[in-house]
Amino acid sequence: MDKVKAIRVHEHGGSDKLVIDTLPAPAPKSGEVVVKINVTSVNHLDLWVRGGLPGVKFPLPVILGSDGAGTIAEIGNEVSDLRVGDRVLVSPSTSCGTCENCLGGQDNLCRQYKIRGEDCDGVDAELISVKREDVFKLPGSVSEEDAAASALVFITAYQMLVDKAKIQPLEDVLVLGAGSGVGTAAVQIAKLHGARVIAVAGSEEKLEKAKALGADEMINYNVTKISQAVRQLTDKRGVDIVFEHTGQATWPDSILSARRGGRIVTCGATTGYEAVTDLRQIFARQLTIYGSTMASKSRNLLLIDLLSRKKFKSVIDSAMPFTEVREAHRIIENKDHFGKLLLKF
Ligand SMILES: [Zn+2]
Repeated sequence: MDKVKAIRVHEHGGSDKLVIDTLPAPAPKSGEVVVKINVTSVNHLDLWVRGGLPGVKFPLPVILGSDGAGTIAEIGNEVSDLRVGDRVLVSPSTSCGTCENCLGGQDNLCRQYKIRGEDCDGVDAELISVKREDVFKLPGSVSEEDAAASALVFITAYQMLVDKAKIQPLEDVLVLGAGSGVGTAAVQIAKLHGARVIAVAGSEEKLEKAKALGADEMINYNVTKISQAVRQLTDKRGVDIVFEHTGQATWPDSILSARRGGRIVTCGATTGYEAVTDLRQIFARQLTIYGSTMASKSRNLLLIDLLSRKKFKSVIDSAMPFTEVREAHRIIENKDHFGKLLLKF
């Protein structure tokens, strides 16, 4: 193959700005491997990169996609431990690998940290070349679909709940957007840590699916005000941890839902980033707000292990050919999905 197809964005806008380009096939540099991508998943991040964000400059044109899995197609010099045909997950991020943060296991604080499909070319292409340390071999027990569906959302939710908020057994965790990719990961990770999960979503159908993943209590935000429902469910106490990624529309309610001394951890703002914070609530009730993005690359290995041991389940809404990426974005924009949409290459 000397030419490959890739999903690229040249300029920001609606889903009509998603273009299937034909590009030269990549050749592996020293220390790199070429991966034949078989499946990728769509994250909300893809929609932000496509639509553009005020004050954020993306390196256009850019190949979209953070999560991908496939098989090794070609091996560069200095790589001796992988074989052509090996099945791998591609890390959704890359970094310098040599700085203090990278060596300390906090590569997501590296000054050269890049999320694929946002800060550099992503995985939505038939072939991609990446550094050896950015791929993880999959055991026979883990499918490429499950790996590609969960990497970004799992590592994101894991850092938020475990590394930042330091979740404890029996704590109450409020998971907003429980039907989204990161929400379904949060429900499962919180349950793995022995917490009680209160799931929030906008339809009974999504809440039933969150329940099937382990959520203990359900709040339909179209029926009840979130903080009022939380007061009822916690005997007026509030939850220990609020898992936030929805932003503007839910933020004031999230603050009111946390108990005295509670923690709020946020990784995104799908409804808008100009959220209002009542500072009196923060200091008087001694809340802690954590910002979080992605996680140490090593968490990809934890995901593969948990998938293999059936301790974590990838939640997949549907799969479609990569040529139908515009339809995938439309489904996510209309919130017509539960879990991840996969693109098949
Ligand atoms: Zn670094």
